[in-house]
Amino acid sequence: MAATINILPSNVVDKIAAGEVVGRPASVVKELIENAIDAQSTSISIIIKDGGTSLIQVVDDGTGMSAEDARVAFERHATSKIRSYEDLESLHTLGFRGEALASIAAVSQVELRTRLRAESVGTKVRVNGGEVSKAEPEAVAVGTNISVRNLFFNTPARRNFLKSAQTEYKHIVETVQRAALASPTVAFTFISNGEQIFLLPSGTLEKRATDLLGEQVASRLIHVAEKIGYVEIGGFLGKPDFARKGRTEQYLFLNGRPIVNRNINHAVFQGYENMLEKGSFPIFVLFLTIDPHMVDVNVHPSKMEVKFDDESAMHRFVFTAVRNTLAAHDLIPSAATRESASEEADFRISTRPGVSAHRVTNWREFLQSHPDRLFSPSGDLPERARTSPAETARDTILPELRNLPEPQYAKAKLWQVHNKYIVVPTSEGLMIVDQHAAHERVLYERAEVRFHAGEHQTQQLLFPQSVDMTAADVALIHELLPHLEALGFGVKVFGKTTVIIDGVPTDVKPGNEGTILQDVVNLYKADEQEANLEPRERLAKSYSCKAAIKAGIPLKPDEMESLLDQLFQTELPYTCPHGRPVIINLSLSELDRRFGRTP
Ligand code: ADP
Ligand code: MG
Repeated sequence: MAATINILPSNVVDKIAAGEVVGRPASVVKELIENAIDAQSTSISIIIKDGGTSLIQVVDDGTGMSAEDARVAFERHATSKIRSYEDLESLHTLGFRGEALASIAAVSQVELRTRLRAESVGTKVRVNGGEVSKAEPEAVAVGTNISVRNLFFNTPARRNFLKSAQTEYKHIVETVQRAALASPTVAFTFISNGEQIFLLPSGTLEKRATDLLGEQVASRLIHVAEKIGYVEIGGFLGKPDFARKGRTEQYLFLNGRPIVNRNINHAVFQGYENMLEKGSFPIFVLFLTIDPHMVDVNVHPSKMEVKFDDESAMHRFVFTAVRNTLAAHDLIPSAATRESASEEADFRISTRPGVSAHRVTNWREFLQSHPDRLFSPSGDLPERARTSPAETARDTILPELRNLPEPQYAKAKLWQVHNKYIVVPTSEGLMIVDQHAAHERVLYERAEVRFHAGEHQTQQLLFPQSVDMTAADVALIHELLPHLEALGFGVKVFGKTTVIIDGVPTDVKPGNEGTILQDVVNLYKADEQEANLEPRERLAKSYSCKAAIKAGIPLKPDEMESLLDQLFQTELPYTCPHGRPVIINLSLSELDRRFGRTP
């Protein structure tokens, strides 16, 4: 029997197509909010019942629609936002596909009330499973009020796919939060089952972030602002010591549109380098602005995915912006407990992105010129930072040198305790440095420099050593040879299971020349977690860990001095390459508080 080909009737097509746009109640909420934003609303209310399954209503005070448009809007491919494909290249609205209302209406019961500002009376239109009623005049407020009832009432398969009302509710909250962060100047009200969940007045991004994420999070955000050519990045990064176990609270926007993009997420994550502990993820609220010509937003009907013309340039840009911002903020973990953390926000702008603020050769000088940099805002803020957040926002990150009393540390003696930690009195309290982690940081950055500079700093061994290894290790060494040489190793592969070492990096302690290479290789292999890193990066980590002084090694005063000098010349002195802290600060006021000296 020959198959017969049918052209599907449009109501069937619409129902099928609806699946792509309207996956769940949250996607309806997203589309309706986008329409309200595109209509230049200043205030948007979202009202839902039962996780959006029985009701989703969005009320805006935007432009509204004429009686004719109110009906046409429900037709597939009906849009007022573009006229030609080329218009996509200069898109300034969130919508453009003209299918959200058609898709939503195909699988629910919709009531639309709308009024243009210039009209004295508005319009009401009802749509039931795609059947559009005629437009009736109705006395309504300026703007648009659309309610979507009984979602998927006519597509039982999809209705059965819905999760519990609680789960759908959570997705809607996420969606509203994203939209509200994207448009801080628009007021949002969100009501679920008659209960007001948020009421967000119009305001700045700072205010919106505080309202939505809470004081706790907002006070640990730092401002990002960089622009290169046709791309710009703005928004906030969470401090590394406030990272989360999951990827929640990562908000990314492109030209005002919430998007998901693994490439950018990865760039941000990499920008934190190794300031994060394993398994934790930074909080961020980032806005990318890019010439619409350089990006394709028409990748998927949900419009959440985008494709950049030059993905790797975007990656580099975001990575560099994040890294520079973090480096410019000197993020030191403070010993102060979370509870005692300062409430003041730290919306400071890095005015000198890319410039490492602490290029000095002597750690005492460094601390003398930047005493307040020792304390992160989650510990004690120095006097100058106790200004209003707005004022702080305009502040440079490098406070001027003031007339300070001669600080303690200018002549302070260093102490080593338990052959492990170096204790340093400072003008504001004391600083404890982990000697191994500090040296690891120094060697790690030095390794990176060597990889880039390509000059080999080797100490030639008077008596080259022959070392026996497994065939697999020798093969690995063979593979890593160029990188090992850049680090300063002189290695020759000699047969399947033997290598000859005739030089080691200048940092290697005398006595360790024969074992260091095997140690580095062992750690390189063992660190499975790092398996997705570039070999060079992974090698830098294992090398710096193995070549660094260990805990348990006594240090002479001049060795401690020199270690601190080197530490404060690094770009990120406050964490080791594995993300553990290098320095912990205890401020006097924290000590006073613990001793019960302050009220
Ligand atoms: P798109 O947003 O892609 O254009 P939609 O199906 O979401 O497609 O909406 C169709 C059209 O209906 C829009 O282009 C717009 O003209 C109109 N419209 C939808 N919602 C609103 C609203 N809240 N206020 C004013 N006009 C709206
Ligand atoms: Mg739309």
